[in-house]
Amino acid sequence: MNGLSSAQKFIKMFVSEKTFVAMEEESRSWKAKCSDCNHEISIWEMGGIRYKAAGNKKLFRACPNCGKRSWQTVYKQA
Ligand SMILES: [Zn+2]
Repeated sequence: MNGLSSAQKFIKMFVSEKTFVAMEEESRSWKAKCSDCNHEISIWEMGGIRYKAAGNKKLFRACPNCGKRSWQTVYKQA
């Protein structure tokens, strides 16, 4: 598998292939949206993992599209 972040590779060592696929799927459905330009990116694409999680959370980060730093809401796409 290519294109994994080091955090994702690290977790992959400890879970089964099946669990890892489920983790990827769920992480891809969690999105952070820039309030400025509405650019959206999934937690997975950021190199992170969000699994068996509920509720929204806030993430302070720079938008890869407009470069503006802000608090972005991370939410699960229906
Ligand atoms: Zn932006």
